[in-house]
Amino acid sequence: MKIVLKSETVRIASTLAAFFMALPLGLKGLTGIFVWTSPFIMLNSIIILKSFVVLNLLGTAVLLVVIFKNRFFCRYMCPAGFCCDKISGISRTKVSIHKKMPAVGSWLALISLAAAFAGIPLLILLDPLAIFHGTFSILSGDLSFVTILSLSGFPLLLAVNYIFPDIWCSRICPLGGLQDLLTDIRRRTSRLIRRKPQESDPYSPARRFFLASGLGLISGFVLPKLISPSRSQYIRPPASVEPATFNTLCIRCGNCIKSCPTNIITNHTDYSDLTSWMTPEINFGDGYCLETCNLCSSVCPTGSITHFSPDAKKIIFMGSAVVNYKECLLAHNKECDRCMAACKYNAVKIVPASRLLLMTPEIDQKKCVGCGACAVICPTSAINMIPPLAV
Ligand code: SF4
Ligand code: SF4
Repeated sequence: MKIVLKSETVRIASTLAAFFMALPLGLKGLTGIFVWTSPFIMLNSIIILKSFVVLNLLGTAVLLVVIFKNRFFCRYMCPAGFCCDKISGISRTKVSIHKKMPAVGSWLALISLAAAFAGIPLLILLDPLAIFHGTFSILSGDLSFVTILSLSGFPLLLAVNYIFPDIWCSRICPLGGLQDLLTDIRRRTSRLIRRKPQESDPYSPARRFFLASGLGLISGFVLPKLISPSRSQYIRPPASVEPATFNTLCIRCGNCIKSCPTNIITNHTDYSDLTSWMTPEINFGDGYCLETCNLCSSVCPTGSITHFSPDAKKIIFMGSAVVNYKECLLAHNKECDRCMAACKYNAVKIVPASRLLLMTPEIDQKKCVGCGACAVICPTSAINMIPPLAV
């Protein structure tokens, strides 16, 4: 009884911690840090990017623990699982048809990881922490019916668990399935070493591994060819991976949006490009990308925004500034050099215009990283920010 109480206390504490870190509270580098503890997100990310950052140690530590303590994450850490358990507990529904449903979580985990080897983290959005954080990212963006609907995965999960108690954790969750799979592999390996007979299982791990991995690999190779790449281009946060990978790797957790000190990252809500729906894009309003900041890259748990140091910013090209000369005060024989003064990368110079006695701002695209400082300061909005120009 004592142990049950202890586990319940840890679960409540974990759920509260995840909840506060998911809110737009200006927690800087701690924003959404809970997402980093998911081994499923961590594995998908490092397979796709073939890189490992320090915070991936959180997911790795959990991965090592679950090998020896099955469902450790579910029992002590998962905020989505805790809420699903509570909802299932109060459910009065008599529906039991789902109890005959086979547990597909470990299949889903294997399919997603195999597809990641082929270039797409197919089912990463099914991670329970992605679903949990996605819903809270509604609070950091513009509220509209469609955005609320599209980020309502967590309430939906609770509703499904109310109708079909325990269905998510025991049957579907790929993170739960990954833990079952790892424990199963550990048990079988230990029996093999101790030369004990294996437990009978109609789907032996080898067979399951072969089938699910094959399915994942085929999906990973075929799906990108079926989905035509979008022609639209947006300004993404600095050091974002290329668009096709970005759209599939980004779990729409909103960490980058919540962490940005100048509030220039917003959700992409262009109906004409649904593959990018709710991914982050840059919209310079009154702010620009600070030359000393790397927060969005520090809090992104998937590496969609690859980690960079502020020192590297002068070589990270997130966009390009272009001048509409007709709108510039200099074209009207008035004095101004605000854009040149605002540029921290020395990319703007005031030079003689082709027309006699007039001056004009000239942007050196080899130096312009697209931070938006000049566009924001321009009193006549004569500078537009566009996706990076190839130079
Ligand atoms: S690096 Fe730029 S876009 Fe990213 S959080 Fe900082 S100011 Fe915002
Ligand atoms: S880019 Fe990274 S931090 Fe931003 S929403 Fe996507 S996964 Fe989250």
